Parts: sequence; C-alpha cells; structure tokens
Amino acid sequence: MRTAQVKIRPIKQNRPRITAQPKPRRPLVVFDMALKDPNVPKYKQTISGAAHCLSLTLRNSNTAGVYFMETPLVQQKDPAKFAFPKEYQAEDRQLIFALSLYDDLFKITQAEVAAIKKAYPDAKIIIGGSCVNVSNDLRALASFFPEATAFVKGDGEGVITPLVQAMASNYLDTKLIEGLKGVYVREADFEYLNETTNALTEAELNAQPGIVAYQTLIKDINKHNDLSLHTSRSCKYRCVFCSHKYHPAPIYWSAERLIQELKRIKEMTEKGLLPKGALNIHFSDDDFFQDKERAIKFFQLLTADPSLRKAFSFVFQGTVASFYKNGELDFTLLAYLKMIRVNWLNFGTDGFHPEALAFFRKSHSLEMALRLIFILDEMGIPQCHYCILTFPTMSIQTLTETMFTILKIAERPTVHFLYNLCLISHDDSDLLPSAEKLEQKNIVISQTGQRKILPTELPLGHEGAHKTIESALSSPFPNRRSLRKRFTQGKPKAEKRWWRRIERSDRKLLSSKDLKIGEALLYSKHTFIKRLAIMELAKQLMPEIVV
Ligand code: SF4
Repeated sequence: MRTAQVKIRPIKQNRPRITAQPKPRRPLVVFDMALKDPNVPKYKQTISGAAHCLSLTLRNSNTAGVYFMETPLVQQKDPAKFAFPKEYQAEDRQLIFALSLYDDLFKITQAEVAAIKKAYPDAKIIIGGSCVNVSNDLRALASFFPEATAFVKGDGEGVITPLVQAMASNYLDTKLIEGLKGVYVREADFEYLNETTNALTEAELNAQPGIVAYQTLIKDINKHNDLSLHTSRSCKYRCVFCSHKYHPAPIYWSAERLIQELKRIKEMTEKGLLPKGALNIHFSDDDFFQDKERAIKFFQLLTADPSLRKAFSFVFQGTVASFYKNGELDFTLLAYLKMIRVNWLNFGTDGFHPEALAFFRKSHSLEMALRLIFILDEMGIPQCHYCILTFPTMSIQTLTETMFTILKIAERPTVHFLYNLCLISHDDSDLLPSAEKLEQKNIVISQTGQRKILPTELPLGHEGAHKTIESALSSPFPNRRSLRKRFTQGKPKAEKRWWRRIERSDRKLLSSKDLKIGEALLYSKHTFIKRLAIMELAKQLMPEIVV
C-alpha cells in the first residue's frame, strides 16, 4: 500500500445549492477505458479488467446502467457527434464517464477528458487506474484534469457504488461521499480528500461477482474471440520499471473460485448466453503462476473434470521465475500445461543478456529463461516473450550478444517476441535523468504549475553507442520485392505462396515506402519478419560479421 497517511479534509460549508430536480432514471456509467494506441501491436483494445469488475459491482447493486466505449472520443472522427446506441437512452440519464489513467497514455487521457466535457458538459468524470494508484498527492494529480469530478485510488470496488450514487443526479449528494477511502472529489465549492489506498482483501476479491452476459461484452468476445479474466492483484516481484504495486502482498482468486467461474462460463455458452469465443480464456493476471500452489490446484481440478478441460483453451501470462522450484524447472507445472489446451504463454522475460537481467532486477537468469524456452518449444507450446533490447549502461558488444541470443531462440518455431527498444522509466523511478536533461516532450505542466514527468525512454549511457543504434535502426529494411526474391528464388508460384503466408497487417507494413529496420522490428506481427529485422540490425551494427 502506498501511503498510511490519511488526510480527511472537512467538507466546506458552502455546498452547492440543490436547485434542479434529480433526473428520474438510473445513471449511465460509460467505461471509456479503451485508450490504447491501435498502431502499437502490444496494445489490444478490449474491455479492461477494471471495467469488467467495476461494471459488475454496479450492476449487482443495481446502481447504474453501464456502457463500454469501443473507441475513445478523441479517436472518433467527430467527437461532438458521437451517438450512444438508442437502447441506452443516454440523453435522459445522468452520464458518468469512468477512465483508467496510465502513465504512457497521460496526454491522450487529458485530451479525452476535455473532449468528454466538451461533448457532454453535464457529465461527471471519474478517473482511476495505475497512475492514480501510485499517486502520493491526488490533488496535485487532479490539477492535470480540471474537467474531472473524482479520482479513485486503488481497487475501486468498495467505493464505486456510493460514488456513482452520489453523482446519480445533476447535483452531487455529498453525504454519500463522506468517509470514502482513497477518493478525491471536487465540484464547485465542495472538496473531499482521503489519500488512503483502497486495497481489497483476498476474501473480498474472491467474493467478486462472476461474469454476466451483456451486449458489449458479447461484442468484445466476438471481436477478439476470447474472454479476459483478471483473477489476482499485484505481484511479488520488483522489476525496476514496474509501477503495478499498491497491495502489500499479491492476492488471488482461489483455484476453486476459478473452476466455479469456468463452470458458469461453460454453462452460459451452452445456453447460448455467451458466444463460443468465451471458451478461449485469456488470463490477464501479471503472473498467473506466481502462487504455484493455486496454479497446480487449479490444473488438478481442471484436469479432473474432462468435460471442463476439453471445453476451454487458455492464454496465460507468467514470469520465468515462476516456472522454477528450488532452482529446477517445475516439471509438475509443465506436465499440467501439456494436459490442457494452451493457445499462448506470454512472458515478461525482458532481458536476453545477464547484464540486462541484472539491470532490470529480474528474478531469473538467462540460463533459466533459455531452459524454459527450449523445453516449452519441445512441448510445442506457443510462447511470446516481451523483450527490452537496450538499457542505459549497455555496450554495443552486449547488444550484439543479446541479438545473437535472440536469433538463436527465434529459430524455434513456437517462439514469438514483442520488442521495446529502450527501457522506459516512470516518474517515481530513480533511473530518471535530472529534470534539466529531460526534453520538453517528457514533461507536462498543469494549470496550477504541477509538473508530471511522462514515461521516458532511457537511452544508452554513452551518446556514441546510442547514435550508432539509432542510425542502425533507421537504416532501410529490405523492401517486399527483394524479400520475395530472396526467399523464393524468383519463382512466381512460390512468391505468391510466400506473400499469402504473411499476415495482412505485415503485408501492409512491408509494402510501405521507406520502411526502417526499427519499424519492422516494433510493428511487425510475424516472427519471421521480426527475426529478419534483428538480423538486419545485427548486420548494421557489426558489418564484419555475416549473419
Ligand atoms: S513481474 Fe511483471 S508485474 Fe511483476 S514486478 Fe515485474 S513487471 Fe511488474
């Protein structure tokens, strides 16, 4: 938990006078959490875990109707003309927008909040999310969002119902706000502040309501052909770049709770309430395997029920360290993965060099990562590894060694990578350069003069090395014609087949004019193209070595 200090400010006496009549219908809470850059492949626009949980809390307490924005207003052609589907009757109801604020989407969220207020001047706006969770000064943070009404710090389940009830009419029912934890609310002359972070207990997390079949969720499942479940909070590791920590210790749904939810989902799909895509479960927990006992128990229960096991396929996120027990690979865990259908295992591996892993404060060694990767490959389990290619004190030699390791791994057919070129630092990190060294684009200043440092890429320590990498990354990537020729020896039929095998988005990328190595590396989806990009980068950096 971030802070133990509690500040409860007295509610000012001159509360806004109640003049207007409350609107009769339940308010509509609009979850506007799809603020993701659609051009960055690692971002998937979908209903977030927080939106799932909070919308269910509101539905269960019958407090509000809920609607999920698929595209934020700022990403719509004409935000002012955005129309809610008729059945939501948004024009008759008090609108409350709920947004998640992430450091890397800070500016776009500022623009979104302003756009909401412009399009819907009477709407109230609540902001939560990781950036609010780690804030030590909600009032300072609020100064960046003058149009927002409320901020919620930590798990919102305990406060969302009274907060929405307080905003349910076109005035603020301040009585309902008094005593709420981790909340900052301001409107007209009213101001309430409590800085204690909301953190659910494990029992409360387990008591959360299960999935309910509703229109937007069904649409979302159909769009992605999967259903996301977020079944834990926080993480026991302490990677240098992570700001996910606001719980004193991680908490999890129990194995029994997980099975109970799968049974419900299966039943709902059998009854036709949920589409078949809901049987592809995407566990969006930072590390599903962190509580090993829970993971093994879950697999035991799942495999003991053949109809349940056969019904589902899974995507998990994990860390390398969680696949080890007493320094050895955990073969019990691996054996269970072989018994169920795994679509993908995603890993925050991050470093592919011992120096990188030490810098990132990862809890595994390179050897541990390689052993796990090779064994998963032998088992035929598709795996995707997040990789940060550089870090501030890295030498060109270390970078080249990193790339050779990646090339060795990338030969394996099951292995896929998602790259970040630089380590990104958040504003509470001691890795950040001094303010004078930061560029203007890395800082935003609020109306009251508060300063916020946006996520900052940390280039290599010595300028020469960084320039070498930058120039290598901006070197041209072979165009599609030369690639086709290279891999099909100019045979027309083979060329066609080769081209068809490449995903549509990658075909578009390869057809773009002046494609750079860095762009191919970051934006391609195809393992083959990414691998080529790494090879081209290695060639640029060490021309004397033939890759
Ligand atoms: S393992 Fe993931 S969630 Fe945990 S500290 Fe590292 S980056 Fe954060």
